[in-house]
Amino acid sequence: MKNVVLLGSTGSIGTSTLKVVEDLPAQLRLVGLAAGNNVELLTEQATRHRPLAVSLQDPAKAAELTGRLPGIRVLSGNAGLIELATLPEADIVLIAIVGTAGLAPALAAIRAGKDIAVASKEILVMAGEIVMNEARAHGVKVLAVDSEHSAIFQCLDGKPPSSVRRLILTASGGPFRKTPKSEFAGITVAMALKHPSWVMGRKITIDSATLFNKGLEMIEARWLFDIEMARVDVVVHPQSIVHSLVEYVDGSMIAQLSTPDMCLPIQYALCYPDRQRSERVQTSLAKLGTLTFEEPDQDRFPALGLARRAGEVGGTLPAVFNAANEVAVDAFLAGRLSFPGITELVTRVMTQHRVVEHPSLEQILEADRDARRDATR
Ligand code: NDP
Repeated sequence: MKNVVLLGSTGSIGTSTLKVVEDLPAQLRLVGLAAGNNVELLTEQATRHRPLAVSLQDPAKAAELTGRLPGIRVLSGNAGLIELATLPEADIVLIAIVGTAGLAPALAAIRAGKDIAVASKEILVMAGEIVMNEARAHGVKVLAVDSEHSAIFQCLDGKPPSSVRRLILTASGGPFRKTPKSEFAGITVAMALKHPSWVMGRKITIDSATLFNKGLEMIEARWLFDIEMARVDVVVHPQSIVHSLVEYVDGSMIAQLSTPDMCLPIQYALCYPDRQRSERVQTSLAKLGTLTFEEPDQDRFPALGLARRAGEVGGTLPAVFNAANEVAVDAFLAGRLSFPGITELVTRVMTQHRVVEHPSLEQILEADRDARRDATR
């Protein structure tokens, strides 16, 4: 039995995680749940799973919970996240909060000797070097929840970076895979929120349309698997069946395939190193018939080039890439920025930034704050 703390329980990854835990009651138990503001869903989840503690971002909303969940500790704010992440009973902490709020709890969990399962890619993009060094120092695992990184992890199966020629991340290509560049200025929020293969939170859905999501994943892969950026590639695969591949130095390629369902990588991370039986995911290759692959169009989707530059230069630049993109996506969702404006804004903020090499956590957070300020100017 593994005791799981879930940060971001009311979101897309969070609710899929609850399904996985409900599928495997003899293997997994939820001991902590955290959400942003969704009191109703958190109450319902806590009533069903009886964790030891729950946390909400807003203290006023957390106060509403206290009377409704007798016997369960109610926490709030960033301190609540840290307390949950370091809960003595927890074996593994799954971090599925949008944005940067997951970074401090991730480091706290590692320092408390907990394995972490990372959905929030911002954590490794901003502070991959620090997180991976801390995990090594404390002898804990950093397990990928993103389907692409879970695929690579499964394909690598413990092989060292020296045996790898390239990691190849697959990208669905998003809803504008075939849209001419001349039509990008007319792309609306509703159009960008229609993802062809995955149902996800709003931020990541927009990132999938711009391919910033794939850019973030390239940097995430670089740190998770200790492979320099030059050996991290992307191929467009619209069916989203091949979740990613490892090309080995002898030319052999190993891929992981399944119909798209986030429950699978979540279950793999939570149960690792075991594989548990589940009927949830069924894949018929004969019914699928055809799997296709194409080069990503770097001209229509400059996010990939920006990500490669951020990952190659390193230091504080990936944090700036991430922060500027968050501000740009917010502005797009609020109708203040056009779709091509997202890339233009991130390019401008990255160009202005003075990179700090091997930054401390404080320098990373400062770069994040500066980038957000510059992006709103
Ligand atoms: P959602 O927007 O669906 O959910 C976000 C969750 O985080 C919600 O539970 C939200 O609570 C909670 N939350 C937000 N801010 C805070 C905070 N300060 N403290 C505590 N909880 C908070 O996002 P997704 O589930 O789609 O994505 C989560 C992360 O996983 C992202 O980093 C994304 O990139 C990554 N990811 C997602 C995938 C997917 O398929 N969705 C695939 C791979 C990675 P509330 O609902 O109350 O606001």
